[in-house]
Amino acid sequence: METKQQPKKIGIFGGTFNPPHIGHILSAEAAAKKLDVDLLLLIPTGLPPHKELPEQTPTAEDRLEMLRLATDGMKNTEILDWELKRAGKSYTIDTVHALQAEYPDGEFYLMMGTDMFQSLESWREYEALLSLVHLVVFNRGEKEETERNRAYAQKLKEQYGADIICMREKPTVISSTQLRAAVKEGTWHPFVSPAVYGYILRRQLYGIKRDLHRLSIEELRAVACSFLRAKRVPHVMGTERAAIALAERWGASKEDAQVAALLHDCTKRLTMEEQLKLCEKYDIVLDDLEQKALKLLHALTGAEVAREVCGVSDAVYSAIRWHTTGKADMSLLEKIIYMADFIEENRDFPGVEPLRKLAFEDLDRAMLLGFEMTIEEMNEMGNPIHFRTLEARDWLKGKRHEC
Ligand code: ATP
Repeated sequence: METKQQPKKIGIFGGTFNPPHIGHILSAEAAAKKLDVDLLLLIPTGLPPHKELPEQTPTAEDRLEMLRLATDGMKNTEILDWELKRAGKSYTIDTVHALQAEYPDGEFYLMMGTDMFQSLESWREYEALLSLVHLVVFNRGEKEETERNRAYAQKLKEQYGADIICMREKPTVISSTQLRAAVKEGTWHPFVSPAVYGYILRRQLYGIKRDLHRLSIEELRAVACSFLRAKRVPHVMGTERAAIALAERWGASKEDAQVAALLHDCTKRLTMEEQLKLCEKYDIVLDDLEQKALKLLHALTGAEVAREVCGVSDAVYSAIRWHTTGKADMSLLEKIIYMADFIEENRDFPGVEPLRKLAFEDLDRAMLLGFEMTIEEMNEMGNPIHFRTLEARDWLKGKRHEC
C-alpha cells in the first residue's frame, strides 16, 4: 500500500482573517517560497488572546469560507479549523503541541507580522514556543519597522536562543481594520479579492446593507466569483466577454447577456448531494438522466439560485436554465449563453476556431454545429444524450430546411 509522504517543513500562519486580504496572502506565499516549505497551514483564530474581535465580526463559518475563497488554488496550502473549534482563547502553544502530535517529524515555521511579533513576550508559554518553532517575521510597512524587528529578533536570539527569520520583501501596507471600514462605507478595496468581496456582499457582512437584486455589474462579477472555484473563474469571465460580443453582434441586451454569463455556473462547484438538496428546495423534478448526471443539474439549480440571490429576470433565468442541454425554440439570449459557454476564449478543442467564426456569421448554423459536436462526443464516450439536446438539434435542422 502506498503511504502518503508526511510534510517535513511546515509553515504556520494564524490570524483572525477578518477579512483576509492580499497582505496576508502575499506575505505567506513569499515566506513559503523562500523557506521552501512542504506545506503551508493557514489557521484562523477562534478567540484571539491579544485583541477583542470587533463588533459585527462574522461567524467562524463565514471567516473560514472567506479564507477558503481567498486562498483557493494556492499550492501546498491547507486551512486548519482547529482553533475555531476549540473552546476558549486560541493559544498558539496549544496549536503547536497539536501539530507536533499530527506531524511528529515536522519542522515548524511560525509566521507573523510586526504587531504580533513585537508582542511575543506576552504570549502564553512563549519561551516554550520559541524552542519549538522558527519564527518568520513580516514587515507591515511602518517607518523604521525593519530596524525595530531586527533589534527585537536579536534580543530574543540572545535571551532565549530563538531562531528568527526577518523577511525583507516590500510590505503590502493594509490591515483588516482598514478594509472593514471601507466595506462599511460601501467601497470595494482592491486588496480584497473579488471572491471575498462577493461573499461579503452576498452574506451582508460587516454591517453592509445592499440590495442584491440591484448590484452594479462589478459587484455582480464579484458575487459570481464568490460562487466559483478559482480555477473556473477564467472560464466564466471568458463566457462574459463572448456573451457581450455575441449580444452586440446579434442585437440582444448586453446587460442580460453579462448577467446570465456571470451566473451561468453559479452552482457548478456543488456535489451531487448538495445539488439534490437544492432540487428539493426549489421543487425541481428530475428526469431519469438528470437523476444520475451531476453535470446536468447545475443549469437547473443555477437558474434558481441566480433568481433567488440576485433577482435575475425571466429571460436571464431561462438562459441559465438551458445552457447545458439546450432545447427546441431557444430565444436569442438562450442561444447566446449556450454559444458563449461553448466558444469562450479558454476553450480549446478541435474545431473551436471555425465554430467561433461561424457564431458571428450565422448563429443558428453555429448552434446546430455545436449540438452535433456535443452529440458526437457523447456517442464516442458512450454517454447518454439528453432528449432536449436531440430536440434542439432537430429543431435547428428543421429551421435550415425551411430556409
Ligand atoms: P486587524 O486589522 O483586524 O487587527 P490584521 O490586518 O492585523 O487584522 P490579522 O488577521 O489579525 O490581520 O493578521 C494575521 C497575521 O497576519 C498577523 O501575524 C499579522 O501581523 C499579519 N498581517 C496582517 N496584515 C499584514 C500585512 N499587510 N502584511 C504582512 N503581515 C500582515
